[in-house]
This record gives sequence, C-alpha cells and structure tokens, in this order.
Amino acid sequence: MPLRRALADLPPYVPGARAAVGAAAYKLSSNENPYPPLPSVVAAVADAAADLNRYPDMYASELVEAVAAHHGVDPAGVVAGCGSVAVLEHVLAAVCEPGDEVVLPWRSFEAYPIAVRLAGAQAVPVPLTPEARLDLPAMAAAVTGRTRVVLVCTPNNPTGPAVRAPELAALLAAVPSDVLVAVDEAYVEFVRDPDAADGLAALREHPNVVVLRTFSKAYGLAGLRVGYALARPRLAAGIRAASTPFGVNALAQVAALASLRAQGEMRTRVDAVVAERARLLAGLRAQGRTVPDSEANFVWLPLGQGAAAFASAAAAAGLLVRPFAGDGVRVSVGEPEATDLLLSWTADLPV
Ligand SMILES: *Cc1c(COP(=O)(O)O)cnc(C)c1O
Repeated sequence: MPLRRALADLPPYVPGARAAVGAAAYKLSSNENPYPPLPSVVAAVADAAADLNRYPDMYASELVEAVAAHHGVDPAGVVAGCGSVAVLEHVLAAVCEPGDEVVLPWRSFEAYPIAVRLAGAQAVPVPLTPEARLDLPAMAAAVTGRTRVVLVCTPNNPTGPAVRAPELAALLAAVPSDVLVAVDEAYVEFVRDPDAADGLAALREHPNVVVLRTFSKAYGLAGLRVGYALARPRLAAGIRAASTPFGVNALAQVAALASLRAQGEMRTRVDAVVAERARLLAGLRAQGRTVPDSEANFVWLPLGQGAAAFASAAAAAGLLVRPFAGDGVRVSVGEPEATDLLLSWTADLPV
C-alpha cells in the first residue's frame, strides 16, 4: 500500500521517558503536573464513568460555555478538542491548502513540524535567538505570499522563555491580516513575567489570532486529553468543522469542568511549581550552568552534544529528563524532592 509522501520524512514524536516497572524515578520528562488530580475532579470522573455507554456531548457544550465564561468571551469563539495538539491539527486543517507555508520557531514543540506536514503544508522553521528565545522579527521576515500560519509558542517548549507583549504586537503589525497567528499558551498559568505577551488581549485586537490552551499542564489532566482554541466565531466555526466528531471524551469533559471550578486549588499548585522552578534555576546557575529564563514548568540545559549522555546519567541517578540529541535537555519542574535530588546530583558534575 503506497503511503503519502508526507509520511516518508515525518520527524518522529519522541515521548518523555517513563520509569521501568518497579523502578523508582522522578518523571521530569513530559512537563506534567507532579500533583495528582484534585479529589473533586477524581469524584466527577468516577461519577461520569457510570454513563460511558453513551456518546459524549459532541461539541462539549457545557465545557465550552464554562471556558467562555472563564475568559469572558463568546462561546461561539471556543472550540474544544482532544488535547491542544489535536486542536492545532484542526486549526491547520481549517486554513491550510496543500503546499502552504507555516512559519514556526525552532527548536520548539516537536508536535509542530509533524502537524504541519500532516496538514499537507510546508514548515518554515526559524532559529531561536542565542538566548533560546523566539526570534519574532525573523519569523515576521520569513512570511511570504504562501504563508498561511505563524506559530508562536509562548512560553517556548522546550527552552522556557515567554514572548514579550511588544514582540507579539510587532509581529501582528508586520504580518498580513490573512495570515493566522496561532499563539500556543500551553504553559500560560506558570507565567510570572508582567511583560509577557497575552494571547487573549491579542485576539481581542486582531481577528487573525487563534489562542491554544490546554488542561494538560497546570490543571494536571494530561492523561485525559483536553484542550481548546479561542478565536473569532467565523474561524472557530471552521476549526469546529475540521474537528474529529466526539473528539473530547465524556470523562475529559467532566474533569475539565470540575477543574475550572477549582481555580483556587489549581493556582496554589501552580504557585508551588513556580517556587520550585525558581529554586531549580537558582541552584543550577549557582553551579555555574547556563540556563535560560523559564516562564513554564520546565528548564532547559543547552548541553549540545552532551545532552544524551546527561540524560542517561540522570536516569541512572533516578531522574527521568528529556534529551534533544545534540541540542539540550529539558527538565520538568517536579516535586521538591526531585529538585533536591537534581541539585545534589548535578553539584558533582562538571559544568
Ligand atoms: C504540552 C503542550 C501542549 C499541550 O498538549 P495537549 O495535547 O493539550 O496535552 C501544547 N503545546 C505545547 C507547546 C506543549 O508543550
């Protein structure tokens, strides 16, 4: 059976390492929330399990209404999906024709080049700055007559810095109004930089913006797969039309709803992760290591050719981290005990 040519050179998505059965290790390889779901969320999921013989609400209407109320936007501008990665695929499916270009930062989220190719479009990667930040002026300059979408990952996975508001404003001023700027804010709840770009504010001013959010990280629901897009209603309708029918399962819908109602607990947990992030960054820098600023729940060690060896030595020490061969290592912020172990283990390593 001939496969699509796009599959031939599709880069693989490499999932973060998991602990072997029976082995104890801190899993700092997938930017997950180290805390289990809240009891109220677990209870809502357990209740909903009794109705699993029924299809879920196809458009996750109750969740969409709740998300809209949470952000103060029109529900017609909210589209839920099976994780924000799926939502991004639906965004691309809604706007890209074969051969269209999608400008994206690189290194960034490894799902991007895969989603772009599967949409039949062409990825145009734009290198990060030496500080591991998105180079938005260079991204604006990479826009051509064939560009349909510019992907903005803020904070950037796997390097950590957030785009600043004036940088995003300049990008939006520079790109034509028929080029979609997709602002992926998977880690927005962890951002503390007051100058960070605000995707929702950009969406209010520019109809060519779509904002992507997820329940996987701050809300701790990575295992359930639910995220959403915020857009102007006409674009949202297009994304909805391109979405998988019944894409958000029933348990994910109730868990996300219950999580939205538990804002206070979510913020307390996120604050704890942000405090650990500061301790991890300060500890690594005190050892003389170069670590870019991070506004997310992970830090980036630009180790170049040493990345793979660092990750395997870390695994042997009980710390699962995510290497990007030849480039660097991403370490998710985990429990305080994981920070302690990482800092004591790296203290003995050459810089
Ligand atoms: C984790 C992550 C997501 C979220 O993916 P889900 O499919 O919602 O779990 C989206 N974008 C980036 C940049 C991420 O790192």
